[in-house]
Amino acid sequence: SRILVTGANGFLGAHIVKEALDSGYLVRGTVRSQAKADDLKKVFPSDKFETAVVPDLITGDYTEALIDVTAVIHSASPFTMGLTDPKKDLLDPAIDGTTNILRAAYAAGVKRFVVTSTVGALPNKPESLFADTTYGPDDWLPVTYEQAASGTLPDFIVYITSKKYAELAAWDFAKEHPDVKVTAVNPTIIYGPVIHPISSLKSLNASNMAIYSLINGSKTIPPDSVPVFCDVVSAARIHVKALDSEPTYGKRVLFAKGPATMYQILQVIAKARPELADRFPPIPEVDPVAGKAISRIDSRIAMDTLGVKGLELEETVLQTVDNLLELEKKL
Ligand code: NDP
Repeated sequence: SRILVTGANGFLGAHIVKEALDSGYLVRGTVRSQAKADDLKKVFPSDKFETAVVPDLITGDYTEALIDVTAVIHSASPFTMGLTDPKKDLLDPAIDGTTNILRAAYAAGVKRFVVTSTVGALPNKPESLFADTTYGPDDWLPVTYEQAASGTLPDFIVYITSKKYAELAAWDFAKEHPDVKVTAVNPTIIYGPVIHPISSLKSLNASNMAIYSLINGSKTIPPDSVPVFCDVVSAARIHVKALDSEPTYGKRVLFAKGPATMYQILQVIAKARPELADRFPPIPEVDPVAGKAISRIDSRIAMDTLGVKGLELEETVLQTVDNLLELEKKL
């Protein structure tokens, strides 16, 4: 059967396409322009993969994109910092974009949806993911839409709030349409090799940029905003495996492999890739966040029901670093 993947040319989206093709699905992926479609087709030359151009998440017309589609993985969502307008840049495309694709697909007869949310939609204890707690599917970020739209919050908080309300939009839709089966996938920050088309490392996706900034000579350590990680192949696999897994209907599938502070990531790189030493920022003697509790994420559905255990930190970081160095040479 054929599935539609939105944001197919994104970091995670391209891995979802790959996992779905590897699992035998026919895949159609949406992108915003014909040029992006052409670039993505080069990554997936398979005749089981096709593209559809939908220029705008909020007003986009999915009629053609949805022909012969039985399920939708909605992964497109802006994950950008440096906002000028929180509503226009993040909140509206995330939230209204979710409602738009769900409505269009439902009208076309689609009943099965997997939507990409984030662990960021969970933290409701002080200090977010630095809380001595296990976050589970009943936890929701308390930040409100109005607060996020006000222009007074840091960009990252606006981003996770956009994801929270986008996920809620999907749950509301499912409530209104009991024949619709939604699964939300809530991965923590995702690292891993880039397979999607990028023209420059300046346009590297936000999460991998944290790792790249440790080795690109900028000599700064990014803030520890998300101290738990997962790898991109596992995150993508969860989306695809969930498609035909009834126990995930109506569920939030949380996923994190374990802690990953910037200091720990730098340690992994320093140990295994000492030849990069002149690019590293000064390595602190101890982890600046040592001693702070790091939250656990209840990943049982992903790990036990879907059997996706996730790669360890060392493998994830080194795969990412080696891939970024390759890209440096190519671009
Ligand atoms: P990318 O920026 O690499 O990909 C985002 C995708 O969404 C791209 O295909 C992009 O298209 C599309 N998109 C963004 N904004 C719009 C818009 N306004 N209209 C239409 N399409 C748009 O990010 P990721 O791969 O990291 O993110 C993919 C999903 O995973 C998102 O839903 C994100 O919230 C979620 N996520 C990511 C995590 C991470 O650490 N990376 C962690 C948890 C969740 P274009 O290329 O044209 O901009």
